[in-house]
Amino acid sequence: MRYSQILIRTKKETPAEAEVISHKLMLRAGFMKKLTSGIYTYLPYGLAAIRRVETIVREEMNRAGAQELSMPMVQPADLWKESGRFSKYGPELLRFQDRHNRESCLGPTHEEVITDIARMEIHSYRDLPVNLYQIQTKFRDEIRPRFGLMRGREFIMKDAYSFDVSDEMAEVSYQKMYDAYNRIFERCNLDFRCVEADSGAIGGSFSHEFMVLAQTGEDTIAVCDSCNYAANLEKAIVAVSAVDHQEEKRGMVKVETPGKRKLEIVCEFLRIKPEKLAKTLVYIADGQPVAVLLRGDRELEEVKLKNYLGAADIRMADDQEVYDATGVPSGYLGPIGISIRLLVDREIIALTNFTAGANEKNYHLQNVNAGIDFQVENVADLRQITESDPCPTCGADIRLVQGIEVGHIFKLGTSYSESMQAMFQDSEGNENPLVMGCYGIGVSRVVAAAIEQNHDEHGIIFPVPLAPFQVSILNLGNKDNQISAAAETIYRQLIDAGIEAFIDDRSERPGIKFKDADLLGFPFRVTVGKRYTEDTMVEVRRRRDGHTKEIPIDQVVELLQRYLDEECKER
Ligand code: ATP
Ligand code: MG
Repeated sequence: MRYSQILIRTKKETPAEAEVISHKLMLRAGFMKKLTSGIYTYLPYGLAAIRRVETIVREEMNRAGAQELSMPMVQPADLWKESGRFSKYGPELLRFQDRHNRESCLGPTHEEVITDIARMEIHSYRDLPVNLYQIQTKFRDEIRPRFGLMRGREFIMKDAYSFDVSDEMAEVSYQKMYDAYNRIFERCNLDFRCVEADSGAIGGSFSHEFMVLAQTGEDTIAVCDSCNYAANLEKAIVAVSAVDHQEEKRGMVKVETPGKRKLEIVCEFLRIKPEKLAKTLVYIADGQPVAVLLRGDRELEEVKLKNYLGAADIRMADDQEVYDATGVPSGYLGPIGISIRLLVDREIIALTNFTAGANEKNYHLQNVNAGIDFQVENVADLRQITESDPCPTCGADIRLVQGIEVGHIFKLGTSYSESMQAMFQDSEGNENPLVMGCYGIGVSRVVAAAIEQNHDEHGIIFPVPLAPFQVSILNLGNKDNQISAAAETIYRQLIDAGIEAFIDDRSERPGIKFKDADLLGFPFRVTVGKRYTEDTMVEVRRRRDGHTKEIPIDQVVELLQRYLDEECKER
């Protein structure tokens, strides 16, 4: 590709609308143009990067035995009513009526349509397993579209759906996708982790998310560098610490704490550390109040609580609700004699002689011990993991890092096939619901995530497999026939060798060409300038670390081929 012929308009200034680096760089490098909130035109350079991801995804999906199809974006509401999601899916589902007043929606995901296909086309165990996928535009009316391609309203997703005869077979299909996803992100040369995730609104028994590690990621994940354990905060298991046997259990005492409601103030007043106090939080779970006891210095993980209770909706109670439910003003609640259901975080069992509210205004209790001063019925892992907790698998240190969710795999079970009556006949002639899985990759988001992870102050540093062009040749002597001819020769030779080459043949100043090459993120740059007319040498430079080499023109192809091979094998 020639710079003089491609529609790339780079910008020096950072557009004010962009907050994160990938969005800034993509706008400056002319990847896309905003049409309206969260909706973009992908310009040639941006689309080329998206296509790279698509190619890797497509190759690995095919390799895993999945078949490509393409489903419509406009979907009849009736299908969504059958699955029950028309009313459940929030305002992200764009609903509208066509000219015949038929209710319709734009596909944010395609479980309904694919289940409809399956019930019409799959009838026997002999047709199974099947895995069908597409790479297609999705529409989600996100409340806050932002960060460019990271969270658009219109975006490109690869979505796959597997159908199996049984749970065990569905797990085999799931495992295949798990392996394919690992290969996909490895082939993209991205630093990523696969984490156990909460299956959220779609439901299902288990799910994993694929996270690209980057500081701007919206999700926090717990990772262990020695055993590769990685989990979403909402799922990360907190290892139970041993009971503190050093301290002898003492008898409980009641102390006056007039007006001391806030945790820090109680601790200061009683001269204790927050880890020696147990706080009692009150939540409203599906309309019912429930109390949770956990150490003063810990954070409750609401998703763990929600899952433990099997509740559809939980929220923290306000002061009035706390009082109405318990008869105690908030700040003085405790486990002893509390009138509502009490859940206890596992760590409390290991705590000796702690302080808690006395369930009486202006009083606290000290030297409280679980199992002695109150009976514990519901113990669970309810708190958030911290960096001071050990890895639940190997005991080494845990690190909390930010991640960008680029892929998500779910084991769906039979929820859709049952509600939509997608049945098959087993070998004994019985009708059973198809067992399903679904698997998504945010293709356009992968490009943004790759840039979040790979950039510097000068611009993008494309991982080789995702770069629209692997090498850019800078012709620094447009008016010099000898230099131009040499640049053109290298360009031809690279293309003949199967390397995606780009040539900056514009009549711009060298400074501008260097700046644009850095901004656009070509992994390698070949500069043909004055030096060539002196001793026929050109400069090859690696974008990632600035490593440069002066070599004769006839060695360029060989050297680049070697570099490119190395880059693709890395990680
Ligand atoms: P998020 O929590 O980020 O909203 P999600 O859980 O809603 O994502 P899924 O329904 O699992 O996402 O969709 C599959 C994949 O599609 C996600 O892993 C993500 O990479 C991508 N994706 C989801 N929403 C968007 C969006 N608004 N813009 C770009 N990519 C998206
Ligand atoms: Mg979402």
